Amino acid sequence: MEKVVIIRYAEIHLKGKNRGYFERVFAMNLERSLKGIRHELHRTSGRWLVAKFPEDRADEVAERISNVFGVHSYSVGYLVGSELDEIFAGVRLVMPKSGTFKVETHRGYKKYPLNSMEISAEMGGRILAENPKLKVDVHAPAHTVYIDVRENGAALVFGSMLPGVGGMPVGTSGKGLLLISGGIDSPVAGYLMAKRGLVVELLHFHSYPYTNDGAKEKVVELSRLLSKFTLVTHLTTVSVTKIQEEIHEKCAAELNITLLRRFMFRIAERMAVKGGMGCLVTGESLGQVASQTLEGMTSSNAVVTLPVLRPLVGFDKDEIIERAKKIGTYETSVLPYEDCCTVFLPEFPATRPKPEKIAEEEAKLDVEGLVAQALETAEVIAF
Ligand code: ATP
Ligand code: MG
Repeated sequence: MEKVVIIRYAEIHLKGKNRGYFERVFAMNLERSLKGIRHELHRTSGRWLVAKFPEDRADEVAERISNVFGVHSYSVGYLVGSELDEIFAGVRLVMPKSGTFKVETHRGYKKYPLNSMEISAEMGGRILAENPKLKVDVHAPAHTVYIDVRENGAALVFGSMLPGVGGMPVGTSGKGLLLISGGIDSPVAGYLMAKRGLVVELLHFHSYPYTNDGAKEKVVELSRLLSKFTLVTHLTTVSVTKIQEEIHEKCAAELNITLLRRFMFRIAERMAVKGGMGCLVTGESLGQVASQTLEGMTSSNAVVTLPVLRPLVGFDKDEIIERAKKIGTYETSVLPYEDCCTVFLPEFPATRPKPEKIAEEEAKLDVEGLVAQALETAEVIAF
């Protein structure tokens, strides 16, 4: 008898002709999520089966699988022979200790001597004989014992179906570049886009030496936490120190942030185009801070042609925090390190920057030169 994890997938079935492609990407992502744990992955009648992993790592396998986008539900169960005694040996390991239950059998192997109902009845009877305190309830049982008799003289037995994260396999919606800060919002934005199948590459801007190593460590840690879902294991950092200094020295203070954000977008777009990414992603939410007004977003969009996806645009801060807690990034996001935006922060940032005023201030800067200089500071950190 062998412990296995059974995986059912979500939404992939919607994709008609592309189904084969979606399934290959999904299988590849399952493999990647299990990196470092010995295992075998098998495709079996519309599901996947993870087998041959060390038994003491079953919880870890299940946990990793539960975070792969495209997983609709999963079960930890047993692969057993299809003789009734063999099936029951598995059933004993997953059957409830108290309360009501039913047995649900699926019979892929149609030549099996008993039909599904008969197998369920037989196993139900054996369960009751073993533990007479249990009660059968076929309509609203507290527990269900699932049996799946397969073609090859094998059966799967499991006691629960746990929800996966849903979504679409990462890589089936193209590639994007997430502007990741050390804050609460951008990791959640990256999570949501990866959930829709986007490969989320990461770009972080720092203002070293105004920002310190702690700030960088924090972003690396956030990226690492995110990689559990996005499967991307590197981050690019770019210095905007020179840009911030120039803006601070030459431009109207209330436009500092507007101007810096335009530089960030330009730099991000260059990197995205070079890396074959089709969009930028940010953690902006309408009205959240001075720069996240319609005018603010318009002014940054104006310097790029790639679409800018803002999956949090309609979220309240509370909702974002709730999600950040759920995906496990919140605790790290609230660590107190300075982000580059807080360096040179004007007291009264413009909430409605006017295009003419922006152009006037930007004319004081060597935009192209500063972008090129910043790109040269790019560093890739693998984690
Ligand atoms: P977050 O919680 O993601 O930091 P925020 O509420 O602090 O967001 P802003 O500082 O206005 O908002 O940043 C808006 C968005 O701009 C961020 O969600 C992120 O996508 C991007 N951004 C801000 N600072 C940086 C940075 N230092 N490096 C990369 N991207 C950044
Ligand atoms: Mg921030």
